[in-house]
Amino acid sequence: MASWGEPSFRASQLLRWVYGSEAASFDEMTDLPEALRGKLSAALHFESLAPVTRVTSADGKTTRTLFRLGDGKAIEAVLMEYDPLGLGRERRTVCVSTQAGCAFGCAFCATGQQGFERSLTPGEITDQVLHYARVAMKEAARHTSEGEGAWKRPPITNVVFMGMGEPLANYTATLQAIENLNGGFGLGARHMTVSTVGLVPQIKRLAREGLQVGLAISLHAPNDDLRQRLVPAAKKYPLDALLEACRDYIARTGRRVTFEYVMLAGVNDSRREAAELARLLRGLPPGAGHVNLIPANAVPKGLFQPSSKESIKAFQDELIRRHIPNTLRVERGALIDAGCGQLRGGGRGTGVGGRAPSPDP
Ligand code: SAH
Ligand code: SF4
Repeated sequence: MASWGEPSFRASQLLRWVYGSEAASFDEMTDLPEALRGKLSAALHFESLAPVTRVTSADGKTTRTLFRLGDGKAIEAVLMEYDPLGLGRERRTVCVSTQAGCAFGCAFCATGQQGFERSLTPGEITDQVLHYARVAMKEAARHTSEGEGAWKRPPITNVVFMGMGEPLANYTATLQAIENLNGGFGLGARHMTVSTVGLVPQIKRLAREGLQVGLAISLHAPNDDLRQRLVPAAKKYPLDALLEACRDYIARTGRRVTFEYVMLAGVNDSRREAAELARLLRGLPPGAGHVNLIPANAVPKGLFQPSSKESIKAFQDELIRRHIPNTLRVERGALIDAGCGQLRGGGRGTGVGGRAPSPDP
């Protein structure tokens, strides 16, 4: 605004529209002069993403949107709505992509099997959240007599960086997106979680940013041998170094770390592996390591099968017996063929209960 000779309050007005309103174009920013709106439309794209298709689960609680980027590449983001305590305090979590494709090639991951295209810009990451925020605000306006601007609660309560790509391999843009969502959109850093395949130097760097973001580590195996087969990045960063980086993160941020563990039948889901996992995590401060068991979604090329309900239960029992805090992720993504990391048509075969893609409004 300054470079265009506009007063500085115009910038504040603009930011309010972008981060806090249902407006989806510069034309809708009614308190900006018409000439300025025209100038903005001519000079800038309002959104860096164009929604192409949208799939909603049968219960209406999970929505996956495919977006086209400016250069034609495709990414997806998922909105999950749930009320964890059943107290009417619904969480609205957006799972965002940080890259188109992924270079890390984990054996069970559809995105990893598709290869790497490019990293997303901070705007492309932020816009995934703003897209869903606008949809929520529009829907709220439709259901109240007050109309537009009626939305009081934050339209999005949590953001997880668990979509396509490796956030810590796109470090600067991910951090800028966190800052946008924090400062501009007003979402507390404690309500954001970055999921990583385990890039040790970047975990250490993140621990020193003075942020309160949650950290999730894609562990998937309790020993180096197995982990290296599932997660090729583990060859560079063995478990010793990874756990040491986690202890550093916990000490510096005071946040606990979540360990994601995709349950693959006959590969990593026996009681023996549960016991080994418990031993591994015993090196963390009490209560600071939490295991999130993830029922595997349709896995690429049929190399892996999801674990049975019984083996998941037995695995979980073993963790409980050994006092390792854990949760079992609800299979919401799988219902619409859209587990995070399973995006963009890569995930196949579990599209139970989804509706056919419809054009996004
Ligand atoms: N690259 C980051 C974030 C994106 S992947 C990471 O690896 O953490 C997000 C999560 O989806 C990871 O925990 C990943 O292991 C998981 N995921 C990948 N493929 C999956 C599958 N077939 N079924 C269930 N979860 C999967
Ligand atoms: Fe990349 Fe994460 Fe998939 Fe591994 S699990 S290939 S790091 S997106």
